[in-house]
Amino acid sequence: MELYIHRYIPVTEVEGPGKRFAIWVQGCSIRCKGCAVPWTWVNENGTKMNVENLFEFIKDSKEQNEIEGVTFLGGEPFDQAEALGELGRKVKQLGLTVMTFTGYLYDDLKKQKQNQQLLSVTDLLIDGPFIEEKLDLSRPWVGSSNQNYHFLTDVYKHLETNFHQFQNKIEIRISQNGTISVNGMATKDTLKEILNQHTFKRIRSNT
Ligand code: SF4
Repeated sequence: MELYIHRYIPVTEVEGPGKRFAIWVQGCSIRCKGCAVPWTWVNENGTKMNVENLFEFIKDSKEQNEIEGVTFLGGEPFDQAEALGELGRKVKQLGLTVMTFTGYLYDDLKKQKQNQQLLSVTDLLIDGPFIEEKLDLSRPWVGSSNQNYHFLTDVYKHLETNFHQFQNKIEIRISQNGTISVNGMATKDTLKEILNQHTFKRIRSNT
């Protein structure tokens, strides 16, 4: 089984509780106005990866980084529900947790057969489209106030009343060739400010 992937990070601490392997799938049929990642909308612009290969990378990360789980985000994970459901099943067998983001509504997803496996392996689901007019970063990991947390298993149930322990953060990675990549949650203005400061410092340190 294959998946269209935008990218993955073997270990991150800003895409859900604890240390996690994060997979951004490629392709989203929802296309919210103001989406922060419109470059993830078209499947063909991504990389096709075999579920088995991705699973091997997750296994390696578990050994090397002691991750507690995997986060599926996008793009739209439920546009590739069957392949992600299969990957999630393997991830759970490894003793890891699964967190899944979706722009669809849980009530609609659970009516469709192809979504059942992915829903059944998901511990924490965050649902709902991003609505620009409802931009709200006060809760961890979500971008607008209409989006909701669904605790589909007991694993993260204790967080239901305890979300204040998490704050939205970003991670910035700088590769050896100077490419900068950012993940996590921040407004576009904050991101611009941080990246400008970084560039400024780099220029100063080079002179
Ligand atoms: S569901 Fe997510 S990836 Fe898709 S358009 Fe909305 S915000 Fe962007």
